[in-house]
Amino acid sequence: MPIAITPPPVIVKDAPAQAVSDAVPAAGDKKRKIICFSDFDGTIFMQDTGHILFDNHGCGSKRREILDEQIKSGERSFRDVSEEMWGSLNVPFDDGFEVMERELEIDPDFRAFHQFCLDNGIPFNVISAGLKPVLRRVLDAFLGEDRSAHIDIVANGADIAADGSAWRPVWLHGGSELGHDKAQSVAEARRAAELACEDGTVPLIVFIGDGVSDLPAARQADVLFARRGLRLEEYCVENGIPYTPFDTFADIQRELARVQAEDDAQTRGRGLPARFNPRANMWRRVSSRTAVPRYIALSPTREEKMFLWPEAFTELTAAAAAASASATSPVLEKTLSLEKTVSLGEGPVAVQV
Ligand SMILES: [Mg+2]
Repeated sequence: MPIAITPPPVIVKDAPAQAVSDAVPAAGDKKRKIICFSDFDGTIFMQDTGHILFDNHGCGSKRREILDEQIKSGERSFRDVSEEMWGSLNVPFDDGFEVMERELEIDPDFRAFHQFCLDNGIPFNVISAGLKPVLRRVLDAFLGEDRSAHIDIVANGADIAADGSAWRPVWLHGGSELGHDKAQSVAEARRAAELACEDGTVPLIVFIGDGVSDLPAARQADVLFARRGLRLEEYCVENGIPYTPFDTFADIQRELARVQAEDDAQTRGRGLPARFNPRANMWRRVSSRTAVPRYIALSPTREEKMFLWPEAFTELTAAAAAASASATSPVLEKTLSLEKTVSLGEGPVAVQV
């Protein structure tokens, strides 16, 4: 550094202080945590791991298509049909992977994308309706065990007989007809991530998927990626759900870098993400008595405040009617009342709306 070789002691003493203060972000700036959740079959891999197993070592493709149709028509539940499909397998666990390694194709840019996540401290999690031991084995084989170990998998368990004569899913959510309620898993992960953000930042939740079964989880995301031309994209179009189409994970990487830059510029990591999805159901679940005021305080717009805490705003309708002749706007009146201290049971917490 030029300053280091220009000796007056005073300048040398002052220079590092100046350099540090230039490098430090403005007071209050934070780093927004981005968390990725991704479907597995048809998203990270182009085929479905279950289909490959069933077609080669189980009920066969014809029977599988009939069973798939029974799910689509609503005749039988996903869980019921899945139990029949997995139950039809007769192959030892290890032998099932020979065909898998032959037939599965990984998204051509997934490995680079996962490296991007590792480099940027973005947790990448798999959320799948499949069986966890199968997915882990596939990731180990295609990424190597070291890289695979960085990916958390939220999926169903499995009981597999040593000789391969019996495969039985152990459902993550036994009470759900889906076996695994992906929306619940994303919501739980989001809540855990939110609690883990000790500096009070609100994480940006990203979901990546391809199929109809991803829709409930997709609704929980702030930023949604749908594989182009498949059912999730069609659903998003039909239902007016904002999404970004992708052909490979390189598209997702580019867009995520852009979203991150946009969020940094607009929020500097404070409050809600620029792409915050106020209609995600999870916000209602997260909104426990104690959690609500915090989100309210972080929400920038009146619409979001009303969505997050409708109980506090439902009086507005009655109040508006009763006070229609009043000079004070009922909305303003309510806003003012929300600025008061709210008791949360653990002592009062000031809420600034
Ligand atoms: Mg899928």
